[in-house]
Amino acid sequence: MSIKVIAVSKTYKTQKALNEVSFSADKGQIIGFLGPNGAGKSTMMKILTGFIKPNSGEVFVDEIDVLKNPIAAQKIIGYLPEHNPLYTDMYVREYLQFQASIFKVNKSEIETCIEKVGLTEEAHKKINELSKGYQQRVGLAAAILHNPKVLILDEPTTGLDPNQIAEIRELIKELGREKTVLFSTHIMQEVEAVCDRVIIIKKGAILVDKKLSELKQNNQQIIEVTFDRKIEEQFFKQLSDIISLKNNSENTWSLTFESKEDKRSKIFDFAQHNSLKILSLNAQHKNLETLFKEVTS
Ligand code: ADP
Ligand code: MG
Repeated sequence: MSIKVIAVSKTYKTQKALNEVSFSADKGQIIGFLGPNGAGKSTMMKILTGFIKPNSGEVFVDEIDVLKNPIAAQKIIGYLPEHNPLYTDMYVREYLQFQASIFKVNKSEIETCIEKVGLTEEAHKKINELSKGYQQRVGLAAAILHNPKVLILDEPTTGLDPNQIAEIRELIKELGREKTVLFSTHIMQEVEAVCDRVIIIKKGAILVDKKLSELKQNNQQIIEVTFDRKIEEQFFKQLSDIISLKNNSENTWSLTFESKEDKRSKIFDFAQHNSLKILSLNAQHKNLETLFKEVTS
């Protein structure tokens, strides 16, 4: 196991931030760590990287006990904290040299990392002259300088524009080929595009921990349909496999089916049978975004 968290709890004074959180990750997985603000994501990451201690529980990174041997653990962990703390008055190369000296990394690694994160053209500049996307690359370069086995990235794409997000996302994917990556984000498409696994946390407790492939493998479809007139809820009893329904507005209904069969044609038959006209119909598979809303709302 690359990461193993066992029954970790953390309370800040009176604020409970984590409540008996457990999960583990195999080598080479990219895990999306999702949850609303205040869910406990950053707290979990600070504990995993040995920056703060939990009140109870155990944490192992690549079999090293983080609470007992934080320095040994930090040698194999790359960490990009939330808000990426950089010395912005320093030049990119100078900052990375400074970081390399802390981790006792050979200077030759610096150029390799600069190239890996696509900073070659900017490496001679001061950090405060770079765009936020490029500053994020500096943080990533600093995190991977010592070639860590595990990468912990706290909201690496927050505050970036769509192009920068796509670039950092590609980088995470690339890094995930050889490392275990745990990264927090609010963007569901990001998780769908990058991750092997998804952990959803709310109020300090894990609500979902599943492989992305398992999450995608559900047979729920949501169909929003507008008819030309108002109908009673009981009409829908004629339709099979409905698991829930909602009257969104006057003539518009949101129908959730659990079935492998595409239910759109059944709705057309239903309309015809009841002399209804369909004014609009919109079908979607239950995706990660709807799942996230469902479990966190
Ligand atoms: P997230 O990263 O998911 O937004 P955090 O781990 O930052 O969540 O916060 C979890 C909870 O702990 C929140 O209620 C937050 O206000 C609280 N919290 C975080 N850091 C501190 C701190 N240093 N002192 C007191 N409360 C904190
Ligand atoms: Mg946070």
